[in-house]
Amino acid sequence: MDFNDYKGVWVFIEQKDGEVASVSLELLGAGRKLADKRGVELAGILIGEHVKPLTKTVFEYGADIVYVYDQPLFKHYRTETYMKALLECSDKYKPEIILYGATSTGKDLASAVATDLPTGLTADTTELDVEEETGLLLASRPAFGGNIMATILCKKYRPQMATVRAKVMKALPPEVGRIGKVVEETVSLKEEDIRTKVLEIVKETVKKVRIDEADIVVAGGKGLGSYEGFQLIHHLAETLGGAVGASRDVVEAGWIDHPHQVGQTGVTVTPKIYFAIGISGAIQHIVGMKNAGLIIAINKDKEAPIFQNCHYGIVGDAFEIVPVLIEQFKHALSSDKAMK
Ligand SMILES: Cc1cc2nc3c(=O)[nH]c(=O)nc-3n(C[C@H](O)[C@H](O)[C@H](O)COP(=O)(O)OP(=O)(O)OC[C@H]3O[C@@H](n4cnc5c(N)ncnc54)[C@H](O)[C@@H]3O)c2cc1C
Repeated sequence: MDFNDYKGVWVFIEQKDGEVASVSLELLGAGRKLADKRGVELAGILIGEHVKPLTKTVFEYGADIVYVYDQPLFKHYRTETYMKALLECSDKYKPEIILYGATSTGKDLASAVATDLPTGLTADTTELDVEEETGLLLASRPAFGGNIMATILCKKYRPQMATVRAKVMKALPPEVGRIGKVVEETVSLKEEDIRTKVLEIVKETVKKVRIDEADIVVAGGKGLGSYEGFQLIHHLAETLGGAVGASRDVVEAGWIDHPHQVGQTGVTVTPKIYFAIGISGAIQHIVGMKNAGLIIAINKDKEAPIFQNCHYGIVGDAFEIVPVLIEQFKHALSSDKAMK
């Protein structure tokens, strides 16, 4: 493999309902730094139907080039079709680095692409850098139960690929009117060649606040004792208009689904306010919430490690404290509304 053939940093641009996903904007910010360090161009790869207008956003957030695959075939995300586009594009233009958001789509696509390309994939990266001279991507992520950070290198193959967690990189401020080069491409697949058909999209009827986008996250741990006890967390979250988070032990106990898990093997969150209630504060949990603006911990054990990682700590029984908080917040919020 001649590494000189491979040039440029690419970001897979995830989009839905006419909007670029925030993780892709964050990756354009991170990708821009890598591309500048290497003195190469930053490209977005945009796949979908009626997605061409989104190139404007991709340029404004830092890309120099956008490779666009705009075909009815790409109306819904399907591994086979998106993978084909990415493989063909990568084969033709040979990027040195490809970054994907560590979302369900990004993880699915990146791992499928990695099985076909003769290269590896670093999953769930939380830090990125590049060696200026060699172009070696330094993709770091927590390892061994979160106790160390491992930097993973792909020394023998190109392109180098990584999925990157949402909310850990920073998007650049958009430069309105910034433009670049649009390269339109198509794949020669026919609908009948594709094994997966999207028959119906069933939307969730209850509108929930997404944990990685919420300004307030109320997270509960094993200290809530049971599924019924955990409902207290939902009540506080509803009162504050926040999202519900949980520790891994809670998810494993089946009190709530995995998308609500905060931490190393869950979601990284950076809300303005994070409540950690009945959560001990294991390192694997802390890595997923330590960058929240304000952390409030409630735990009946004053020695619990969570108290080393919070701004305010309340030592006491959640079943006594949380109902009082709910009552007080309801009162404060209703007087606030009345004043407005
Ligand atoms: C590879 C690996 C990955 C992991 N990934 C994650 C991850 O992504 N996210 C994650 O959260 N964990 C993760 N873990 C698990 C992690 O190590 C801990 O086991 C887990 O976070 C503990 O959950 P907890 O705090 O809810 O439970 P516990 O550790 O059991 O803590 C319960 C806490 O509740 C308090 N308490 C009890 N009763 C009350 C009460 N009535 N009122 C107030 N406080 C009370 C207790 O004092 C205690 O501090 C991972 C572990 C490994 C090995």
